[in-house]
Amino acid sequence: MPLRLFNTYSRTLEEFHPLDPAGSEVKMYTCGPTVYAHAHIGNFRAYLFEDLLQRHLESRGFQVRRVMNITDVDDKTIQGSRSAGIPLAEFTSSFKQAFFADLDTLRIKRADHFPEATEPGQIAAMIEMIKTLVERGLAYQAEDKSVYFRINKFPGYGQLAHFDLSELRSTGRVKSDEYDKEHVGDFALWKAWDEEDGAVRWESPWGPGRPGWHIECSAMATQLLGDQLDIHCGGVDNIFPHHEAEIAQTEGCTGRKFVRYWLHCAHLMVDGQKMSKSLGNFYTLRDVLAKGYSGREVRYALMRVHYRAQLNFTWEGMEESRKALRRIDAWVARLREKAEEENAQRPTPNVQRPTEEGSGFEDALDDDLNISGALGVLFETISETNLALDLGKLDSDAARLRLQWWERIDRVLAVSGEETVALPAEITALAEARTQARLAKEWRKSDELRDELAAKGWEVRDTKDGQKITRRGGV
Ligand code: AMP
Ligand code: ZN
Repeated sequence: MPLRLFNTYSRTLEEFHPLDPAGSEVKMYTCGPTVYAHAHIGNFRAYLFEDLLQRHLESRGFQVRRVMNITDVDDKTIQGSRSAGIPLAEFTSSFKQAFFADLDTLRIKRADHFPEATEPGQIAAMIEMIKTLVERGLAYQAEDKSVYFRINKFPGYGQLAHFDLSELRSTGRVKSDEYDKEHVGDFALWKAWDEEDGAVRWESPWGPGRPGWHIECSAMATQLLGDQLDIHCGGVDNIFPHHEAEIAQTEGCTGRKFVRYWLHCAHLMVDGQKMSKSLGNFYTLRDVLAKGYSGREVRYALMRVHYRAQLNFTWEGMEESRKALRRIDAWVARLREKAEEENAQRPTPNVQRPTEEGSGFEDALDDDLNISGALGVLFETISETNLALDLGKLDSDAARLRLQWWERIDRVLAVSGEETVALPAEITALAEARTQARLAKEWRKSDELRDELAAKGWEVRDTKDGQKITRRGGV
């Protein structure tokens, strides 16, 4: 079965073929974080769906070249740096670092490039694109000195979002208070400097100012991947206006089709509402880790539902994910034990001999990343194997083959192996106090601290390398 992906542009499932004549390289652009706060796990749902896509493409032999941008200048970052009273670059840098640490915790593969919007080369590229658009009559400078894209001059505008702009105007759904613009839907390419922006400003042919968010992505994508991309991803909230604007700007400059496949993931929800910073109903990765969950448990929980289906975040869901991973761990441990046994001279009669080629898992993912189907294949295999082991019908050769199969599919899932859980600050402090108590030979105090840790759900073991702390009943 060929690999098929749901293209937001056509609203249909399409067979995937990259532009590369050799059919090997895939150019993929993924909208990255705006670094004014810690990313929340809704953002990570988007990044995890992109990770699953990249890993699956690679398992099918494609070479993925991926770019993820970092939005380090926009209204929110400027506002954040102003309220913190520190320069923009300083303000955003801690959130950038935290973002990369979170990617690692969630085992998300690093993109090949993480361009930052404020890099001088990128700002220059944005200005060049805006110049071209102005020369072609696709953009204009308004009285407020900002430069806007003229959407009426771009016939395809609205096609990605399936949006009729004349309707937008006639029903009066959007009230324009920006009297400088020709059309209510015209969007800013260059925002003229004002006092609120403080020291954040770059020179341009239209006066000092800063780029609009949409042009940032058009410039960074084309700078690093060329005029045409195979895949562009984001969450559904990116479709309009962000991605619609990216098409208009880029195609307005290059005259060529910008993106072949547009993929968008549905939202992570909380109590029926989108998880978002503005609603305040969000958890950061750190919040979830502080409850004692591990990175791979969060990874699994956010990845296990099809990317186009909404996923409701619940603690029960986290528990289910923990159980699913324990089941996988126990199965792998059992297979390893069996695989280490030497086979008797004569093969065991009636043994199950799975073939290495069994590709049900990958076939399911070929169907627009049908992760539920793929996990179904995995858990069926686990049940069958466990039964065969119970009945003595699976010998060490067969166990080794199963393990090879697991290693192959885990290159896509990336959930195997236990990991250290980050200890909440309060627990670290109690553990440290206990170390001190033990050094001072205050055994009673040490025991009391152990009990206090236990009451909070953490178990202490004293080893020759010092105390080891684990979540009770967890990894
Ligand atoms: P932002 O930092 O707001 O630009 O968002 C970064 C990425 O996360 C974008 O691709 C968004 O579409 C995506 N995103 C934001 N909120 C959610 C959510 N609740 N569920 C899934 N994706 C989201
Ligand atoms: Zn973007």
